[in-house]
Amino acid sequence: NSKEPLLVIENLNVSYGAIRAVRNLSLHIDKGEIVCVIGANGAGKSTLMNAIMGMVKRQSGNILLEGKPLAEKSYQVVAQGVSLSPEGRKVFAPLTVYENLMMGAFPRKDRENIERDLEWVYSLFPRLQERRNQHAGTLSGGEQQMLAIGRALMSRPKLLLLDEPSLGLAPIIIKDIFKELKRINSEGVTILLVEQNAKQALMLSHRGYVLQTGEILMEGPAHELLANPEVEAAYLGTT
Ligand code: ATP
Repeated sequence: NSKEPLLVIENLNVSYGAIRAVRNLSLHIDKGEIVCVIGANGAGKSTLMNAIMGMVKRQSGNILLEGKPLAEKSYQVVAQGVSLSPEGRKVFAPLTVYENLMMGAFPRKDRENIERDLEWVYSLFPRLQERRNQHAGTLSGGEQQMLAIGRALMSRPKLLLLDEPSLGLAPIIIKDIFKELKRINSEGVTILLVEQNAKQALMLSHRGYVLQTGEILMEGPAHELLANPEVEAAYLGTT
């Protein structure tokens, strides 16, 4: 790792009325890293992702991408090089796999490279190529997750955000998808993922943060968090 920060978040606060969902949160992601944020249901993981994407309003704090303020409108965030595979996949069910992928390329200016990146996504997930003319709503959960990731990659992001990619999937499918995430990272995409599935997420990541009721409780190299008794007791369970 080059240790050059790609994304820096300083003292982020996000509230829904009286609920302070994210509190004075600071974190950083270096170029080339896979970083995870683990935390229980309701810890504020999706709020963090949505705040980065400009989908919920930041109350205060700074978000910098390569040292420059990150835009606050979603389409500008994508244009700056950040994209999201959202919680619950949210594929466009009546559209085909191909059409869903093309939706991800929609904000791009370099139209000439879209075909190349479509081939790239198909090489990462051959299943999507096989099913390119199938309606997304007829795919399995695992295939829909691949499609949501592929769609996010079609904007050629510098930073890929993943909100609970393992949610509702069988362990063997999770293993497959996480293996592809490692490959995507090795091909130059920095990754921030938030997960309730702490063990799998830490095993994939270089570093991790533990989020509890909107606040960062702990941070460190993933292998240290995996070996930490507090983390183990609260988050690692038996899976
Ligand atoms: P989950 O895994 O269940 O999505 P999470 O860690 O992603 O959990 P958030 O969805 O970010 O957590 O929620 C953080 C807190 O903010 C919770 O207390 C939640 O009830 C609250 N919250 C989230 N979205 C809204 C909203 N639109 N309006 C009001 N409160 C909300």
